[in-house]
Amino acid sequence: MLYHLSYGPVWLWMVRGMRTAMSDEAIEDREKAQQAEDEAADGPAVPQEGDAGEHSGEGHGHPDKSAKRTEEKPKPSRAEVSNYEIVEHWFKDAAERLELPDDVAAVFRSSYREVQVQIPVWLSDDRIHVFSGYRVQHNGARGPYKGGIRFHPEVDLDEVRALAELMTWKTAIVNIPYGGAKGGVNCDPSKLEPHEVQSIARSFMDKIEKVLGPQRDIPAPDVGTNAQVMAWLMDEYGKLHGHTPACVTGKPIALEGSFGREAATGRGVVQVFTEAASEEDLDPGDATFVMQGFGNVGAWAARLMQELGAKMVGVADADGAVASAGGIDAEKLAEHVRDGGTVGEFDSDADEIDPEDLVALECDVFIPAALGGMLHADNADRMRCRMIVEGANSPTTPRADEILIDKGVRIVPDVLANAGGVIVSYFEWVQNLQHFRWGEDEVNEKLGEIMRRAYRQVTDRAQENGTPMRPAAYELGIERVVEAASTRGYI
Ligand code: NAD
Repeated sequence: MLYHLSYGPVWLWMVRGMRTAMSDEAIEDREKAQQAEDEAADGPAVPQEGDAGEHSGEGHGHPDKSAKRTEEKPKPSRAEVSNYEIVEHWFKDAAERLELPDDVAAVFRSSYREVQVQIPVWLSDDRIHVFSGYRVQHNGARGPYKGGIRFHPEVDLDEVRALAELMTWKTAIVNIPYGGAKGGVNCDPSKLEPHEVQSIARSFMDKIEKVLGPQRDIPAPDVGTNAQVMAWLMDEYGKLHGHTPACVTGKPIALEGSFGREAATGRGVVQVFTEAASEEDLDPGDATFVMQGFGNVGAWAARLMQELGAKMVGVADADGAVASAGGIDAEKLAEHVRDGGTVGEFDSDADEIDPEDLVALECDVFIPAALGGMLHADNADRMRCRMIVEGANSPTTPRADEILIDKGVRIVPDVLANAGGVIVSYFEWVQNLQHFRWGEDEVNEKLGEIMRRAYRQVTDRAQENGTPMRPAAYELGIERVVEAASTRGYI
Protein backbone atom coordinates (compact mmCIF):
# COMPACT_ATOMS: atom_id res chain seq x y z
CA MET A 1 0.00 0.00 0.00
CA LEU A 2 2.81 2.35 -0.90
CA TYR A 3 0.44 4.88 -2.30
CA HIS A 4 -0.53 5.97 1.21
CA LEU A 5 2.98 7.10 1.99
CA SER A 6 4.14 10.65 1.58
CA TYR A 7 6.90 11.60 -0.80
CA GLY A 8 9.48 13.66 1.05
CA PRO A 9 12.82 13.54 -0.78
CA VAL A 10 14.47 11.87 2.24
CA TRP A 11 11.82 9.19 2.32
CA LEU A 12 12.11 8.68 -1.39
CA TRP A 13 15.89 8.38 -1.16
CA MET A 14 15.54 5.88 1.68
CA VAL A 15 13.06 3.72 -0.11
CA ARG A 16 14.90 3.75 -3.42
CA GLY A 17 18.14 2.87 -1.72
CA MET A 18 16.76 0.15 0.47
CA ARG A 19 14.01 -1.38 -1.57
CA THR A 20 16.03 -4.18 -3.08
CA ALA A 21 16.88 -5.72 0.27
CA MET A 22 14.34 -4.35 2.67
CA SER A 23 14.68 -5.47 6.29
CA ASP A 24 11.77 -6.20 8.62
CA GLU A 25 12.69 -3.02 10.47
CA ALA A 26 12.37 -0.98 7.32
CA ILE A 27 9.04 -2.57 6.51
CA GLU A 28 7.85 -1.71 10.01
CA ASP A 29 9.02 1.89 9.52
CA ARG A 30 7.05 2.07 6.31
CA GLU A 31 3.97 0.67 7.99
CA LYS A 32 4.28 3.28 10.73
CA ALA A 33 4.66 6.00 8.15
CA GLN A 34 1.61 4.66 6.36
CA GLN A 35 -0.40 4.65 9.58
CA ALA A 36 0.62 8.23 10.28
CA GLU A 37 -0.36 9.14 6.78
CA ASP A 38 -3.72 7.42 7.12
CA GLU A 39 -4.36 9.25 10.35
CA ALA A 40 -3.49 12.53 8.74
CA ALA A 41 -6.00 11.55 6.06
CA ASP A 42 -4.82 14.22 3.72
CA GLY A 43 -5.53 12.27 0.56
CA PRO A 44 -3.46 10.05 -1.63
CA ALA A 45 0.18 10.94 -1.91
CA VAL A 46 0.73 9.54 -5.38
CA PRO A 47 1.53 12.17 -7.97
CA GLN A 48 -1.67 13.34 -9.60
CA GLU A 49 -2.16 14.33 -13.17
CA GLY A 50 -0.63 17.74 -13.76
CA ASP A 51 1.68 17.57 -10.72
CA ALA A 52 5.00 19.22 -11.28
CA GLY A 53 8.31 18.61 -9.61
CA GLU A 54 10.16 15.48 -8.71
CA HIS A 55 7.39 13.08 -9.62
CA SER A 56 6.18 14.67 -12.78
CA GLY A 57 7.19 13.60 -16.25
CA GLU A 58 7.26 10.36 -18.04
CA GLY A 59 5.28 7.69 -16.28
CA HIS A 60 4.41 9.94 -13.36
CA GLY A 61 1.10 11.59 -12.79
CA HIS A 62 0.16 11.10 -16.43
CA PRO A 63 -1.46 8.25 -18.24
CA ASP A 64 1.63 6.08 -18.66
CA LYS A 65 2.59 6.34 -22.28
CA SER A 66 6.21 5.86 -21.29
CA ALA A 67 9.18 5.94 -23.60
CA LYS A 68 9.75 2.82 -25.66
CA ARG A 69 12.60 0.59 -24.64
CA THR A 70 13.17 -0.45 -28.25
CA GLU A 71 13.37 1.55 -31.41
CA GLU A 72 9.96 2.15 -33.01
CA LYS A 73 9.32 0.97 -36.54
CA PRO A 74 6.84 2.88 -38.71
CA LYS A 75 3.27 1.73 -38.16
CA PRO A 76 0.38 1.85 -40.60
CA SER A 77 -1.58 5.07 -40.31
CA ARG A 78 -4.75 5.05 -38.23
CA ALA A 79 -8.20 6.45 -38.73
CA GLU A 80 -9.55 9.91 -39.14
CA VAL A 81 -12.18 9.08 -36.47
CA SER A 82 -12.05 7.44 -33.05
CA ASN A 83 -13.41 4.01 -32.16
CA TYR A 84 -16.22 5.76 -30.30
CA GLU A 85 -17.22 7.77 -33.36
CA ILE A 86 -17.22 4.57 -35.42
CA VAL A 87 -19.58 2.71 -33.07
CA GLU A 88 -21.78 5.78 -32.62
CA HIS A 89 -22.06 6.17 -36.37
CA TRP A 90 -23.40 2.65 -36.83
CA PHE A 91 -25.72 2.89 -33.85
CA LYS A 92 -27.21 6.17 -35.08
CA ASP A 93 -27.57 4.78 -38.59
CA ALA A 94 -29.47 1.69 -37.40
CA ALA A 95 -31.50 3.58 -34.77
CA GLU A 96 -32.80 5.89 -37.49
CA ARG A 97 -33.83 3.00 -39.71
CA LEU A 98 -35.51 1.31 -36.74
CA GLU A 99 -37.23 4.63 -35.96
CA LEU A 100 -36.07 4.40 -32.37
CA PRO A 101 -37.49 7.39 -30.46
CA ASP A 102 -34.79 9.89 -29.41
CA ASP A 103 -35.38 9.34 -25.69
CA VAL A 104 -34.96 5.57 -26.11
CA ALA A 105 -31.84 6.02 -28.27
CA ALA A 106 -30.40 8.32 -25.60
CA VAL A 107 -30.39 5.42 -23.12
CA PHE A 108 -28.07 3.44 -25.38
CA ARG A 109 -25.91 6.38 -26.32
CA SER A 110 -24.40 6.50 -22.86
CA SER A 111 -23.05 3.78 -20.59
CA TYR A 112 -24.77 2.44 -17.51
CA ARG A 113 -21.57 2.76 -15.45
CA GLU A 114 -18.06 4.03 -16.12
CA VAL A 115 -15.32 3.40 -13.58
CA GLN A 116 -11.86 4.93 -13.79
CA VAL A 117 -9.23 3.97 -11.26
CA GLN A 118 -5.67 4.89 -10.51
CA ILE A 119 -3.10 2.08 -10.59
CA PRO A 120 0.21 3.15 -9.06
CA VAL A 121 2.74 0.36 -9.55
CA TRP A 122 6.38 0.22 -8.64
CA LEU A 123 8.25 -0.96 -11.74
CA SER A 124 11.75 -2.37 -12.11
CA ASP A 125 13.18 1.07 -12.94
CA ASP A 126 12.64 1.84 -9.24
CA ARG A 127 9.92 4.38 -9.92
CA ILE A 128 6.22 4.41 -9.30
CA HIS A 129 4.26 4.52 -12.54
CA VAL A 130 0.68 5.68 -12.38
CA PHE A 131 -1.52 3.85 -14.85
CA SER A 132 -5.20 4.50 -15.48
CA GLY A 133 -7.63 1.60 -15.42
CA TYR A 134 -11.14 1.64 -16.84
CA ARG A 135 -14.21 -0.56 -16.72
CA VAL A 136 -17.24 0.54 -18.66
CA GLN A 137 -20.58 -1.28 -18.42
CA HIS A 138 -22.66 -0.18 -21.34
CA ASN A 139 -25.91 -2.11 -21.04
CA GLY A 140 -26.99 -5.10 -18.97
CA ALA A 141 -30.57 -5.62 -20.14
CA ARG A 142 -29.89 -9.08 -21.57
CA GLY A 143 -27.66 -10.44 -18.79
CA PRO A 144 -24.45 -9.82 -16.85
CA TYR A 145 -22.01 -7.37 -18.44
CA LYS A 146 -19.38 -9.10 -20.52
CA GLY A 147 -16.26 -7.86 -22.25
CA GLY A 148 -12.50 -8.07 -22.49
CA ILE A 149 -9.73 -6.23 -20.71
CA ARG A 150 -7.17 -4.51 -22.91
CA PHE A 151 -3.62 -3.64 -21.83
CA HIS A 152 -2.33 -1.15 -24.37
CA PRO A 153 -0.62 2.26 -24.09
CA GLU A 154 -3.35 3.99 -26.09
CA VAL A 155 -6.26 2.77 -23.96
CA ASP A 156 -8.46 5.62 -22.77
CA LEU A 157 -12.01 6.07 -21.57
CA ASP A 158 -13.32 6.91 -25.01
CA GLU A 159 -11.95 3.72 -26.53
CA VAL A 160 -13.18 1.52 -23.68
CA ARG A 161 -16.61 3.16 -23.90
CA ALA A 162 -16.80 2.36 -27.61
CA LEU A 163 -15.70 -1.23 -27.14
CA ALA A 164 -18.22 -1.72 -24.31
CA GLU A 165 -21.07 -0.56 -26.53
CA LEU A 166 -19.85 -2.85 -29.29
CA MET A 167 -20.10 -5.77 -26.84
CA THR A 168 -23.76 -4.94 -26.10
CA TRP A 169 -24.65 -5.30 -29.77
CA LYS A 170 -22.35 -8.28 -30.33
CA THR A 171 -23.77 -10.42 -27.52
CA ALA A 172 -27.28 -9.59 -28.74
CA ILE A 173 -26.49 -10.35 -32.40
CA VAL A 174 -25.21 -13.84 -31.56
CA ASN A 175 -28.02 -14.13 -28.99
CA ILE A 176 -26.14 -15.11 -25.85
CA PRO A 177 -27.45 -13.91 -22.47
CA TYR A 178 -25.03 -11.10 -21.73
CA GLY A 179 -24.82 -7.34 -21.73
CA GLY A 180 -21.83 -5.34 -22.93
CA ALA A 181 -18.75 -4.10 -21.08
CA LYS A 182 -15.06 -3.48 -21.65
CA GLY A 183 -12.03 -2.65 -19.57
CA GLY A 184 -8.49 -1.55 -20.05
CA VAL A 185 -5.29 -0.22 -18.58
CA ASN A 186 -3.02 2.20 -20.46
CA CYS A 187 0.12 0.13 -20.02
CA ASP A 188 2.35 -1.52 -22.61
CA PRO A 189 2.83 -5.18 -21.64
CA SER A 190 5.42 -5.66 -24.40
CA LYS A 191 7.76 -3.41 -22.41
CA LEU A 192 6.99 -4.78 -18.96
CA GLU A 193 8.35 -7.73 -17.01
CA PRO A 194 5.78 -10.47 -16.29
CA HIS A 195 5.80 -9.62 -12.57
CA GLU A 196 5.04 -5.99 -13.46
CA VAL A 197 2.08 -7.03 -15.60
CA GLN A 198 0.94 -9.21 -12.72
CA SER A 199 1.11 -6.26 -10.28
CA ILE A 200 -0.93 -4.10 -12.64
CA ALA A 201 -3.54 -6.85 -13.16
CA ARG A 202 -3.92 -7.52 -9.43
CA SER A 203 -4.06 -3.85 -8.51
CA PHE A 204 -6.65 -3.23 -11.22
CA MET A 205 -8.80 -6.09 -9.92
CA ASP A 206 -8.56 -4.80 -6.34
CA LYS A 207 -9.97 -1.50 -7.47
CA ILE A 208 -12.81 -2.69 -9.66
CA GLU A 209 -13.89 -5.95 -7.99
CA LYS A 210 -16.95 -4.33 -6.46
CA VAL A 211 -18.55 -3.86 -9.86
CA LEU A 212 -17.57 -7.34 -11.11
CA GLY A 213 -18.72 -10.89 -10.33
CA PRO A 214 -20.18 -13.93 -12.09
CA GLN A 215 -23.71 -12.50 -12.00
CA ARG A 216 -22.65 -8.91 -12.57
CA ASP A 217 -19.74 -8.42 -14.97
CA ILE A 218 -17.29 -10.99 -16.31
CA PRO A 219 -13.99 -9.86 -17.92
CA ALA A 220 -12.04 -11.80 -20.57
CA PRO A 221 -8.81 -11.35 -22.57
CA ASP A 222 -8.38 -8.71 -25.26
CA VAL A 223 -5.39 -6.95 -26.82
CA GLY A 224 -2.33 -7.27 -24.57
CA THR A 225 -3.93 -9.70 -22.10
CA ASN A 226 -4.12 -13.49 -22.17
CA ALA A 227 -5.02 -16.57 -20.13
CA GLN A 228 -2.21 -15.84 -17.65
CA VAL A 229 -3.56 -12.35 -16.94
CA MET A 230 -7.04 -13.85 -16.45
CA ALA A 231 -5.54 -16.31 -13.95
CA TRP A 232 -4.09 -13.42 -11.92
CA LEU A 233 -7.40 -11.57 -12.06
CA MET A 234 -9.30 -14.66 -10.91
CA ASP A 235 -6.83 -15.30 -8.11
CA GLU A 236 -7.07 -11.71 -6.87
CA TYR A 237 -10.87 -11.81 -6.99
CA GLY A 238 -10.75 -15.12 -5.10
CA LYS A 239 -8.77 -13.56 -2.24
CA LEU A 240 -11.77 -11.36 -1.53
CA HIS A 241 -14.67 -13.61 -2.50
CA GLY A 242 -13.40 -17.20 -2.31
CA HIS A 243 -12.69 -19.44 -5.31
CA THR A 244 -14.87 -18.02 -8.10
CA PRO A 245 -13.75 -19.32 -11.50
CA ALA A 246 -16.83 -17.87 -13.22
CA CYS A 247 -15.66 -14.31 -12.40
CA VAL A 248 -13.47 -14.18 -15.54
CA THR A 249 -13.27 -16.21 -18.75
CA GLY A 250 -10.39 -17.02 -21.06
CA LYS A 251 -8.57 -18.63 -18.13
CA PRO A 252 -5.91 -21.32 -18.50
CA ILE A 253 -7.16 -24.91 -18.78
CA ALA A 254 -5.48 -25.64 -15.42
CA LEU A 255 -7.82 -23.12 -13.76
CA GLU A 256 -11.19 -24.21 -15.16
CA GLY A 257 -10.68 -22.47 -18.49
CA SER A 258 -12.61 -23.95 -21.39
CA PHE A 259 -11.11 -26.12 -24.08
CA GLY A 260 -11.29 -24.18 -27.31
CA ARG A 261 -11.43 -20.69 -25.74
CA GLU A 262 -7.98 -19.57 -26.83
CA ALA A 263 -8.70 -20.37 -30.48
CA ALA A 264 -12.36 -19.35 -30.35
CA THR A 265 -12.25 -15.86 -31.84
CA GLY A 266 -10.02 -16.99 -34.71
CA ARG A 267 -12.16 -20.10 -35.20
CA GLY A 268 -15.32 -18.00 -35.37
CA VAL A 269 -13.68 -15.72 -37.95
CA VAL A 270 -12.91 -18.76 -40.11
CA GLN A 271 -16.39 -20.23 -39.61
CA VAL A 272 -18.06 -17.07 -40.93
CA PHE A 273 -15.49 -16.83 -43.70
CA THR A 274 -16.53 -20.28 -44.98
CA GLU A 275 -20.18 -19.17 -44.93
CA ALA A 276 -19.34 -16.00 -46.86
CA ALA A 277 -17.07 -17.90 -49.27
CA SER A 278 -19.89 -20.21 -50.31
CA GLU A 279 -22.02 -17.16 -51.13
CA GLU A 280 -19.17 -15.72 -53.19
CA ASP A 281 -18.51 -19.01 -55.02
CA LEU A 282 -15.06 -19.11 -53.51
CA ASP A 283 -13.50 -22.41 -52.55
CA PRO A 284 -11.88 -21.83 -49.10
CA GLY A 285 -9.18 -24.34 -50.04
CA ASP A 286 -8.12 -22.13 -52.97
CA ALA A 287 -8.39 -18.81 -51.18
CA THR A 288 -5.56 -16.37 -50.50
CA PHE A 289 -5.65 -14.18 -47.43
CA VAL A 290 -3.81 -11.32 -45.73
CA MET A 291 -3.65 -11.12 -41.93
CA GLN A 292 -3.23 -7.74 -40.23
CA GLY A 293 -2.18 -8.50 -36.65
CA PHE A 294 -0.73 -11.82 -35.53
CA GLY A 295 -1.70 -12.08 -31.87
CA ASN A 296 -4.35 -14.35 -30.40
CA VAL A 297 -6.99 -13.71 -33.05
CA GLY A 298 -4.68 -13.37 -36.05
CA ALA A 299 -2.44 -16.35 -35.33
CA TRP A 300 -5.39 -18.68 -34.70
CA ALA A 301 -7.40 -17.47 -37.67
CA ALA A 302 -4.34 -17.82 -39.93
CA ARG A 303 -3.62 -21.38 -38.80
CA LEU A 304 -7.24 -22.44 -39.18
CA MET A 305 -7.44 -20.81 -42.63
CA GLN A 306 -4.31 -22.74 -43.55
CA GLU A 307 -5.92 -25.97 -42.30
CA LEU A 308 -8.69 -25.34 -44.85
CA GLY A 309 -6.01 -25.08 -47.56
CA ALA A 310 -6.03 -21.28 -47.84
CA LYS A 311 -2.72 -19.47 -48.42
CA MET A 312 -1.47 -16.49 -46.37
CA VAL A 313 0.13 -14.05 -48.81
CA GLY A 314 0.76 -11.20 -46.39
CA VAL A 315 0.92 -10.66 -42.64
CA ALA A 316 1.78 -7.85 -40.23
CA ASP A 317 2.21 -7.22 -36.55
CA ALA A 318 2.97 -4.00 -34.69
CA ASP A 319 6.64 -4.22 -35.69
CA GLY A 320 6.51 -4.93 -39.41
CA ALA A 321 4.93 -6.67 -42.38
CA VAL A 322 5.94 -9.38 -44.86
CA ALA A 323 4.44 -10.66 -48.11
CA SER A 324 4.91 -13.68 -50.34
CA ALA A 325 2.81 -14.71 -53.32
CA GLY A 326 3.99 -18.28 -52.68
CA GLY A 327 2.52 -18.24 -49.15
CA ILE A 328 3.77 -17.82 -45.59
CA ASP A 329 3.53 -20.78 -43.24
CA ALA A 330 1.11 -19.67 -40.50
CA GLU A 331 1.95 -22.62 -38.24
CA LYS A 332 5.69 -21.89 -38.29
CA LEU A 333 5.12 -18.16 -37.90
CA ALA A 334 2.91 -18.80 -34.86
CA GLU A 335 5.67 -20.92 -33.34
CA HIS A 336 8.21 -18.16 -34.03
CA VAL A 337 5.94 -15.54 -32.41
CA ARG A 338 5.25 -17.84 -29.44
CA ASP A 339 9.01 -18.01 -28.92
CA GLY A 340 9.14 -14.21 -28.70
CA GLY A 341 9.84 -13.36 -32.37
CA THR A 342 8.16 -10.71 -34.47
CA VAL A 343 6.65 -11.07 -37.94
CA GLY A 344 9.44 -9.01 -39.53
CA GLU A 345 12.11 -11.27 -38.03
CA PHE A 346 10.54 -14.46 -39.37
CA ASP A 347 13.07 -16.35 -41.42
CA SER A 348 11.23 -17.30 -44.60
CA ASP A 349 11.19 -16.51 -48.30
CA ALA A 350 8.73 -13.70 -47.65
CA ASP A 351 9.75 -10.12 -48.45
CA GLU A 352 9.61 -7.42 -45.84
CA ILE A 353 7.19 -4.71 -47.00
CA ASP A 354 6.17 -1.27 -45.78
CA PRO A 355 3.30 -1.91 -43.31
CA GLU A 356 1.33 0.79 -45.15
CA ASP A 357 1.34 -1.46 -48.23
CA LEU A 358 -0.19 -4.50 -46.54
CA VAL A 359 -3.70 -3.33 -47.39
CA ALA A 360 -2.80 -3.12 -51.07
CA LEU A 361 -1.84 -6.80 -51.42
CA GLU A 362 -4.07 -8.71 -53.79
CA CYS A 363 -5.99 -11.46 -52.00
CA ASP A 364 -9.43 -13.03 -51.67
CA VAL A 365 -9.84 -12.19 -48.00
CA PHE A 366 -8.31 -9.46 -45.87
CA ILE A 367 -8.58 -10.17 -42.15
CA PRO A 368 -7.93 -7.22 -39.85
CA ALA A 369 -6.93 -8.67 -36.46
CA ALA A 370 -5.10 -5.77 -34.82
CA LEU A 371 -6.53 -2.46 -33.61
CA GLY A 372 -9.44 -0.21 -34.47
CA GLY A 373 -9.48 2.29 -37.34
CA MET A 374 -6.78 0.66 -39.44
CA LEU A 375 -8.85 0.63 -42.64
CA HIS A 376 -9.67 4.26 -43.20
CA ALA A 377 -10.46 6.94 -45.75
CA ASP A 378 -6.84 7.17 -46.89
CA ASN A 379 -6.14 3.51 -47.55
CA ALA A 380 -9.49 1.82 -48.31
CA ASP A 381 -9.25 2.68 -51.97
CA ARG A 382 -5.97 0.77 -52.25
CA MET A 383 -7.47 -2.51 -51.06
CA ARG A 384 -7.57 -5.37 -53.57
CA CYS A 385 -9.60 -8.07 -51.81
CA ARG A 386 -13.00 -9.61 -52.47
CA MET A 387 -13.96 -9.85 -48.86
CA ILE A 388 -13.04 -8.48 -45.41
CA VAL A 389 -13.74 -10.54 -42.31
CA GLU A 390 -13.27 -8.30 -39.29
CA GLY A 391 -11.39 -10.16 -36.57
CA ALA A 392 -10.51 -6.87 -34.85
CA ASN A 393 -13.01 -4.52 -33.23
CA SER A 394 -13.90 -1.42 -35.28
CA PRO A 395 -11.08 -1.89 -37.82
CA THR A 396 -13.01 -0.08 -40.58
CA THR A 397 -14.09 3.54 -40.39
CA PRO A 398 -17.52 4.47 -41.81
CA ARG A 399 -15.88 6.30 -44.73
CA ALA A 400 -13.68 3.29 -45.54
CA ASP A 401 -16.73 1.04 -45.26
CA GLU A 402 -18.54 3.17 -47.81
CA ILE A 403 -15.57 3.11 -50.20
CA LEU A 404 -15.20 -0.67 -49.89
CA ILE A 405 -18.91 -1.44 -50.27
CA ASP A 406 -18.93 0.76 -53.40
CA LYS A 407 -16.02 -1.31 -54.72
CA GLY A 408 -18.14 -4.45 -54.22
CA VAL A 409 -16.17 -5.81 -51.25
CA ARG A 410 -18.23 -8.00 -48.92
CA ILE A 411 -17.59 -7.04 -45.29
CA VAL A 412 -18.42 -9.48 -42.51
CA PRO A 413 -18.59 -7.00 -39.61
CA ASP A 414 -16.78 -7.24 -36.27
CA VAL A 415 -19.98 -7.55 -34.23
CA LEU A 416 -20.57 -10.87 -35.95
CA ALA A 417 -17.18 -12.05 -37.23
CA ASN A 418 -15.23 -11.85 -33.98
CA ALA A 419 -18.00 -13.03 -31.66
CA GLY A 420 -16.45 -16.50 -31.35
CA GLY A 421 -14.44 -15.39 -28.32
CA VAL A 422 -17.40 -14.19 -26.31
CA ILE A 423 -19.44 -17.23 -27.34
CA VAL A 424 -16.86 -19.65 -25.95
CA SER A 425 -16.45 -17.34 -22.95
CA TYR A 426 -20.16 -17.92 -22.41
CA PHE A 427 -19.55 -21.68 -22.62
CA GLU A 428 -16.70 -21.33 -20.14
CA TRP A 429 -18.91 -19.39 -17.72
CA VAL A 430 -21.68 -22.01 -18.03
CA GLN A 431 -19.13 -24.79 -17.35
CA ASN A 432 -17.69 -22.87 -14.38
CA LEU A 433 -21.10 -22.29 -12.82
CA GLN A 434 -21.59 -26.07 -12.90
CA HIS A 435 -17.92 -26.95 -12.20
CA PHE A 436 -18.23 -29.24 -15.18
CA ARG A 437 -16.10 -29.50 -18.31
CA TRP A 438 -17.05 -30.08 -21.93
CA GLY A 439 -14.73 -31.69 -24.48
CA GLU A 440 -13.07 -29.54 -27.15
CA ASP A 441 -15.09 -31.05 -30.02
CA GLU A 442 -18.32 -30.24 -28.23
CA VAL A 443 -17.19 -26.63 -27.67
CA ASN A 444 -16.14 -26.16 -31.31
CA GLU A 445 -19.32 -27.72 -32.63
CA LYS A 446 -21.57 -25.57 -30.43
CA LEU A 447 -19.54 -22.49 -31.43
CA GLY A 448 -20.07 -23.32 -35.12
CA GLU A 449 -23.83 -23.71 -34.57
CA ILE A 450 -24.13 -20.26 -33.00
CA MET A 451 -21.83 -18.55 -35.52
CA ARG A 452 -23.69 -20.06 -38.48
CA ARG A 453 -27.10 -19.24 -37.01
CA ALA A 454 -26.06 -15.62 -36.40
CA TYR A 455 -24.52 -15.41 -39.87
CA ARG A 456 -27.79 -16.61 -41.44
CA GLN A 457 -29.92 -14.24 -39.39
CA VAL A 458 -27.75 -11.27 -40.34
CA THR A 459 -27.62 -12.15 -44.05
CA ASP A 460 -31.40 -12.78 -44.13
CA ARG A 461 -31.95 -9.37 -42.60
CA ALA A 462 -29.50 -7.77 -45.02
CA GLN A 463 -31.29 -9.34 -47.98
CA GLU A 464 -34.73 -8.31 -46.70
CA ASN A 465 -33.60 -4.69 -46.30
CA GLY A 466 -31.21 -4.55 -49.22
CA THR A 467 -28.34 -3.39 -46.98
CA PRO A 468 -24.82 -4.67 -46.40
CA MET A 469 -24.28 -6.99 -43.44
CA ARG A 470 -23.13 -4.41 -40.89
CA PRO A 471 -26.29 -2.27 -40.81
CA ALA A 472 -28.35 -5.47 -40.70
CA ALA A 473 -26.32 -6.83 -37.78
CA TYR A 474 -26.69 -3.60 -35.79
CA GLU A 475 -30.44 -3.56 -36.38
CA LEU A 476 -30.78 -7.11 -35.13
CA GLY A 477 -28.69 -6.42 -32.02
CA ILE A 478 -30.37 -3.14 -31.16
CA GLU A 479 -33.85 -4.62 -31.55
CA ARG A 480 -33.02 -7.43 -29.14
CA VAL A 481 -31.53 -5.12 -26.52
CA VAL A 482 -34.42 -2.66 -26.76
CA GLU A 483 -36.91 -5.50 -26.38
CA ALA A 484 -35.12 -6.85 -23.28
CA ALA A 485 -34.76 -3.38 -21.73
CA SER A 486 -38.40 -2.55 -22.27
CA THR A 487 -39.65 -5.97 -21.11
CA ARG A 488 -37.69 -5.44 -17.89
CA GLY A 489 -39.31 -2.04 -17.51
CA TYR A 490 -35.92 -0.35 -17.70
CA ILE A 491 -37.09 1.91 -20.53
P1 NAD B 1 -3.23 -9.47 -29.25
O1 NAD B 1 -2.67 -8.48 -28.32
O2 NAD B 1 -3.07 -10.92 -28.95
O3 NAD B 1 -2.67 -9.22 -30.73
C1 NAD B 1 -2.73 -7.98 -31.37
C2 NAD B 1 -1.88 -8.10 -32.62
O4 NAD B 1 -2.01 -6.88 -33.36
C3 NAD B 1 -0.39 -8.27 -32.34
O5 NAD B 1 0.18 -9.15 -33.29
C4 NAD B 1 0.15 -6.88 -32.53
O6 NAD B 1 1.53 -6.88 -32.85
C5 NAD B 1 -0.71 -6.44 -33.70
N1 NAD B 1 -0.70 -5.00 -33.93
C6 NAD B 1 -0.80 -4.01 -33.03
N2 NAD B 1 -0.69 -2.82 -33.65
C7 NAD B 1 -0.53 -3.10 -34.96
C8 NAD B 1 -0.34 -2.30 -36.11
N3 NAD B 1 -0.31 -0.98 -36.01
N4 NAD B 1 -0.21 -2.93 -37.32
C9 NAD B 1 -0.26 -4.27 -37.41
N5 NAD B 1 -0.43 -5.08 -36.35
C10 NAD B 1 -0.55 -4.49 -35.15
O7 NAD B 1 -4.78 -9.09 -29.40
P2 NAD B 1 -5.97 -10.02 -29.87
O8 NAD B 1 -6.62 -10.59 -28.66
O9 NAD B 1 -5.52 -10.89 -30.96
O10 NAD B 1 -6.99 -8.93 -30.44
C11 NAD B 1 -6.87 -8.41 -31.75
C12 NAD B 1 -8.15 -7.69 -32.12
O11 NAD B 1 -9.25 -8.61 -32.01
C13 NAD B 1 -8.53 -6.53 -31.22
O12 NAD B 1 -9.19 -5.55 -31.99
C14 NAD B 1 -9.50 -7.13 -30.23
O13 NAD B 1 -10.36 -6.19 -29.64
C15 NAD B 1 -10.24 -8.08 -31.14
N6 NAD B 1 -10.91 -9.19 -30.44
C16 NAD B 1 -10.18 -10.04 -29.65
C17 NAD B 1 -10.86 -11.08 -29.03
C18 NAD B 1 -10.14 -12.11 -28.20
O14 NAD B 1 -10.77 -13.11 -27.81
N7 NAD B 1 -8.86 -11.97 -27.92
C19 NAD B 1 -12.25 -11.23 -29.20
C20 NAD B 1 -12.92 -10.35 -30.03
C21 NAD B 1 -12.23 -9.33 -30.65
